[in-house]
Amino acid sequence: MKYLGAHVSAAGGPDQAVLRAVEIGADAFALFTKNQRQWRAKPLEDTTIEAFRSACKQHGFGPGQILPHDSYLINLGHPDRAGLEKSRAAFLDEMQRCEQLGLTLLNFHPGSHLKKISESECLTRIADSINHALAETRDVIAVIENTAGQGTNLGWRFEHLAEIIGQVDDKSRVGVCIDTCHAFAAGYDLRTPEACTATLDELGKVVGFEYLRGMHLNDAKSEYASRVDRHHSLGRGNIGLDAFTTIMRDPRIDEIPMVLETIEPEIWAEEIAWLRAQMVDG
Ligand SMILES: [Zn+2]
Ligand SMILES: [Zn+2]
Repeated sequence: MKYLGAHVSAAGGPDQAVLRAVEIGADAFALFTKNQRQWRAKPLEDTTIEAFRSACKQHGFGPGQILPHDSYLINLGHPDRAGLEKSRAAFLDEMQRCEQLGLTLLNFHPGSHLKKISESECLTRIADSINHALAETRDVIAVIENTAGQGTNLGWRFEHLAEIIGQVDDKSRVGVCIDTCHAFAAGYDLRTPEACTATLDELGKVVGFEYLRGMHLNDAKSEYASRVDRHHSLGRGNIGLDAFTTIMRDPRIDEIPMVLETIEPEIWAEEIAWLRAQMVDG
């Protein structure tokens, strides 16, 4: 079973995200549990939590079908003490919000070295940040997203993800989310069924499919290996449709939320229906 959906707006409250997912025929979705461009948010109110939990129950969304995304401001590998502490506090708050909402996955971008520390120091810092957050929470799995490698962002090589996981104490509560646009921009080819399968083989070899907890299905405006992060609608970018057909038919990818972050929300319903149809051969 592959769960399919999109990163829907939570405007009006997280329960509204559930309804937006239902409207586009999704059985998975992503959301921000707070404004993704601000550091602080007011705590979730009991009525908000209750509304979300009951909407999920009513529409049949379990925690394994929902992939919340954290704030873009957080840098868990921040080179400066103050920046790191601020990021760690905000990340813990994100995890706690997930717990309150009954969610068990939290998707985030690993972090950036800002040219002030080495890659390996930064990766260690990210792993330490994850260890801190896991020690103070119970149920949420830290889901590291691969990046396009723009600027000084780490996590664009599968080896970076593996290195972080290797330094996380509780391996049962760490995983990865692979974004197809980011992988392609980082230099993992996906343009033919063969190239796509080879990239997935590489993921299996370097990270392991047991850690795959989610996927972001995006075509790319970015050029191959450009290290530029620009999403596109499926089949309209430089990756093309073959990759998505191949992914939908790969039995190694199963029981995880697969979420569109494509650029035309008005065609998400069509994109989801198309993806679902790819699961059946012929
Ligand atoms: Zn992301
Ligand atoms: Zn993504």
